[in-house]
Amino acid sequence: MKEKIDVLEHATEILQALQSGVLLVTKDGAKVNAMTISWGALGIDWRHPVFKTFVRESRFTRGLLDKTGVFNIAVGTGEQAKQVLEKNIAWIKNTQAKMLDRTGLPKTYSDGEKIMLLGEPLTIRYISGNEFFKPFIEDRELRVSVSSFTTPESVRKQIDAFIADLAFTEIQSCMKKAVELTGLSPDKVTVKPMTSSWGRCISNRHISINSKVVVFDRDCITYVCIHELCHLKEMNHSPQFWALVEKSCPDYKAIKQRMK
Ligand SMILES: [Zn+2]
Repeated sequence: MKEKIDVLEHATEILQALQSGVLLVTKDGAKVNAMTISWGALGIDWRHPVFKTFVRESRFTRGLLDKTGVFNIAVGTGEQAKQVLEKNIAWIKNTQAKMLDRTGLPKTYSDGEKIMLLGEPLTIRYISGNEFFKPFIEDRELRVSVSSFTTPESVRKQIDAFIADLAFTEIQSCMKKAVELTGLSPDKVTVKPMTSSWGRCISNRHISINSKVVVFDRDCITYVCIHELCHLKEMNHSPQFWALVEKSCPDYKAIKQRMK
C-alpha cells in the first residue's frame, strides 16, 4: 500500500536506517541503478524536506545523477526494499515530468508553442526564408529561422542554444547585482540545468544556479542568487538566514510566492 508520509515525522527512523545502509535509486530511461549509502543529511531547503548525500565522481550512479538530477532514497530491507524501489521508479519519472511542466520551457518546440522567458509569455514563431538567422525575441515572439533544410532536431538545438545563452548572460548579471547587494561573493558559480531546486550552495563556496530559472523575471533570478549567497554566511534556513536575505531583498516573500 502506498501512503504519503511526513518525512520529518519519520526522521529518526530514516536516520537510524541510514546507519545500516539505505538505497539511493536513480533511473534514466530503462537504466535503473541503486547503490547503498550510509551517509547523508536530512534537512529543509526552500521549505521542502531535502536529503543531501555525496556520490563519488567515479560511481556509475553519479553519471546518471548528473544526467537526470533526480534520485530517491529507499529506506527498508529485503523484500520491503524491493517494493519501495519499484514505487520509487514511478516517483522519479513523475517528478521529472512535473519539474518540466513547471518550468515554462519549450516541450514540443513547434511553431505556436507558448513558453516563458524572463517572466514574459512568448510564442515560438517559425520564420521561413533563405536567410538564416539566430533566434531572437521580438513582439513577444521567439523567432526561429526555418528553411527546407530545417529538421525538428535542428530547431530544437537552435532554441536550446538560445535559451542556454540567455540563461548564462542573465544569471551572470543578476549574480553580479546580488554580490553588490549582499557584499558576499562565491569562489565559483556554475549555471546548469537542475531538476529539484533553483540553486545550491555547497560548503567550498561553490554556488550552482539552475539555468531553468531564466523562465522567471530578473527580480526572481536575483533573489535566487541572493538566497544562495546568503548561504555562504548561514548554511541553514534559520531566522538569521532570512533576515540576511531580507536585507538585500526586502520583498523576497512575494518573489518566492511568484516562483511557486
Ligand atoms: Zn536555501
